Amino acid sequence: MHIVIIGAGLGGLCLAQGLKRRGVSFDVYERDAAPDSRPQGFRIKIDRTGQEALEACLPPALSTLFREACAIPVNGVNLIGPGLEPVSERWVASWQRAGGDDAPVGRMEDLNADRLAMRRVLLDGIEAQVHFGRAFVDYERSGGVLRARFADGSAAACDVLVAADGVNSAVRALRLPEVAPLDTGSTCIYGKTLFSADNASRIAPLFQSKTSVVFGERLAVIVDPMRFGSRQSPPQVDDYLYWAMIGSSERLNPARDGDAHANALSLCADWHPGFRALFELAKPSDVAMLPVRTMTAPPRWQTDGVTVLGDAIHVMSPAGGLGANTALRDAATLAQRLGEAAANRTPVLAAVAAYEAAMRDYAGEAIRQSDDGAELLFGAVAA
Ligand SMILES: Cc1cc2nc3c(=O)[nH]c(=O)nc-3n(C[C@H](O)[C@H](O)[C@H](O)COP(=O)(O)OP(=O)(O)OC[C@H]3O[C@@H](n4cnc5c(N)ncnc54)[C@H](O)[C@@H]3O)c2cc1C
Repeated sequence: MHIVIIGAGLGGLCLAQGLKRRGVSFDVYERDAAPDSRPQGFRIKIDRTGQEALEACLPPALSTLFREACAIPVNGVNLIGPGLEPVSERWVASWQRAGGDDAPVGRMEDLNADRLAMRRVLLDGIEAQVHFGRAFVDYERSGGVLRARFADGSAAACDVLVAADGVNSAVRALRLPEVAPLDTGSTCIYGKTLFSADNASRIAPLFQSKTSVVFGERLAVIVDPMRFGSRQSPPQVDDYLYWAMIGSSERLNPARDGDAHANALSLCADWHPGFRALFELAKPSDVAMLPVRTMTAPPRWQTDGVTVLGDAIHVMSPAGGLGANTALRDAATLAQRLGEAAANRTPVLAAVAAYEAAMRDYAGEAIRQSDDGAELLFGAVAA
């Protein structure tokens, strides 16, 4: 059995690690020239679901390396307004609390990973099977053989082709043309601000010790301190404050093609100076902007040798912090099913069908929770 994975994002690489662990042959093809050839985003919150999926796919030494590469956990959450005044409790159900739902607000059990560091951990030990600079263009079946084809004219035969190529998936566009992401009418501006001594003296101290959720007019801002300290394993990452503004596109990107950093600065003009400093001190190259897109719950389709995983099939608002965690769960579920089929010599299509049935259920629920999160954070109404 040979599996071809399109896309070396978090989902595709986690699947590759899971297949390696189960002795299933695979190759990953990635359009980017190198792991760091474009900004990958900064902080990513990995919840219990994501952590369990990583543990199921990574060898134990890499699981440990991943945990050590995460930021030092912080205790406590500030729920505040743009003037730094406390606001009454608002809580998004998918943000886990240590000790269960009745535990007091303030202790998060999630891990905060730096995306690039996480991707490097996920690449560890499979470098030879991950082919950068290979953009997928289409696939064909001829003489009973399934083949993916690439922009450089090359092709790769496989038993299963996995679309892990993100929200604009070229594989999905061919395999499931009726499925497409929807614009939610929201935008996300996100970035990082380095923790230099000078910056730290201007940024309000409350942002530096706890997670903060700031509720503004038709927008919310999440701020997370990312300190790696002496617990940090290679690769090295400088300490930073991660921040993400999410809200209506009219508010965050009124000119439609505006500049991400300039938009953030104009939004914060009358906010508390210790909050404003977070955006003023960010390097423009460390700020990015994206329209927020979502899908409806994955529909049913006839299983064949081409399947879909992660944002390619269930992109959702980042307001719930569930997109990557769901992609990791896909990877673990599919790796397990394919591993069992290889070990027991059972039909591979039955394994793919079992993965797809499970994924439809939990991904539909994650999309619903993300819509609820967006509504609670900044009043977005789910489509
Ligand atoms: C601001 C922001 C914050 C977020 N925070 C969180 C969070 O805290 N927790 C969480 O769980 N989720 C979060 N998410 C969501 C998360 O980023 C995504 O759900 C996750 O990255 C999806 O992983 P993926 O592997 O499916 O796709 P991607 O990470 O998008 O990877 C797809 C890969 O496919 C490659 N590719 C694309 N086209 C081709 C092609 N034709 N040929 C070859 N390769 C191709 C791309 O270059 C890319 O490397 C956030 C999203 C945003 C925007």
